[in-house]
Amino acid sequence: MSLEIAQTARSFARSQKLSSEIAQFIPGGVDSPFRAFTEVGGHTIFFQGGSGSRLVDVDGNEYIDYLGAWGPAVLGHCHPQIVAAAQHAVAAGAVFGAPHVFELEAARALKQLLPSMEKVRFVNSGTEAVMSAVRLARGATGRDLIVMFQGGYHGHSDSVLASQNHSSSAGVPQASAANTLLVPYNDLPALRAAFDRQSGKIAAILIEPVCGSMGVVAPDDGYLQSVAELCRTNGTLLIFDEVLTGLRVARGGAQRRYNIRPDLTCLGKALAGGMPIGAYGGRAELMDRLLPVGDVYQAGTFSGNPATMAAVIETIKLLDDSALYEVLERRTAQLFDGLSSAAKKCGQTIQLQRVGSMFAVIFAPQPVRNYDDHLQIDSKKFSRFFHFILQHGVYFPPSSVDAACVSAAHTETDIDETIDVCARAFKTL
Ligand code: PMP
Repeated sequence: MSLEIAQTARSFARSQKLSSEIAQFIPGGVDSPFRAFTEVGGHTIFFQGGSGSRLVDVDGNEYIDYLGAWGPAVLGHCHPQIVAAAQHAVAAGAVFGAPHVFELEAARALKQLLPSMEKVRFVNSGTEAVMSAVRLARGATGRDLIVMFQGGYHGHSDSVLASQNHSSSAGVPQASAANTLLVPYNDLPALRAAFDRQSGKIAAILIEPVCGSMGVVAPDDGYLQSVAELCRTNGTLLIFDEVLTGLRVARGGAQRRYNIRPDLTCLGKALAGGMPIGAYGGRAELMDRLLPVGDVYQAGTFSGNPATMAAVIETIKLLDDSALYEVLERRTAQLFDGLSSAAKKCGQTIQLQRVGSMFAVIFAPQPVRNYDDHLQIDSKKFSRFFHFILQHGVYFPPSSVDAACVSAAHTETDIDETIDVCARAFKTL
């Protein structure tokens, strides 16, 4: 895509038409509410294809993509090795409902990449991974309470849809919500106070080691170590929700980056290079509490299906490479350097927050460290920014708080073009 093309006004006529048509059949026209343009306004974009760092919509407009499918596209879209592996596996039989050698290879490869996952269960989504890990933690400790953090997101199972959070929901039984304690992120005294109040009753702390849905919020120095210590002294299990961070913030995930060994880890998103996936795993004796060896139930018809497992094996091969993470760091740093000087030049106050290739461009007066800070984000300004860059060929998450992603397929030229478009957006705001 050349910038000349991007400068001419784009037509979204076909997307617009499809967008109103689909709402007659699918609630809100989306199979996941994040996809709706609820915050930014306007109609959704229908894509017809993607390759590497680029997406093409049904009107033929091309975009440099930073949604990354909400995380999975760490290697870019349609990596040829992953596509070939999955196609080959589907042709041999999409699902058998019985063990397959690809499951064995995928589990072995995953353990090498994340040694804390001594044993793993493959499931089909991040939601399923977290839901199952929480049940396992409750089953293994014989306790009901879970501690989570305000502004975190862990999928849509009842236990993790707490009120006073942006992922609250009608239909969650009070009894379930009552077993979930919410504390502010990056606030050790508040966490300690929760433990003091509920001594001996907390099964697990469920935490995103880097929060991806209230801006990109990194843990304060030493915070995760203190969380782990609190777990150890209270017989509470530490669950790292690395659905977003796991294959993105470092080779070996946030647990490698911050040098913490959680009891259980949840993965999803990037693990199968774009195929639907979830996984949870941890210490062998803990994982052996699952049926058929133990007494905690979890099952799934499509879990560990050969096509997804073939994609996992290829994805891990490609991601087991520190050089790739150096590229991700370099590209994201390049983007931030450019955005920072462009914002300064036109007097825009923005907060640029990132960990590895997860990043957020935040229109707020101060850095976001927790849920309360995130309430200061100027969502209206973000919406104007979003629509300007959309019109000029750059696709961001349609949300001022959710992480955007650079992929290994983004080139220096992609980043330069993006900086140029964003600089023009900053001028118009
Ligand atoms: N945990 C985290 C940290 C996530 O970011 C998400 C998805 N945004 C989930 C869990 C749920 O994953 P899925 O959408 O695959 O169910």
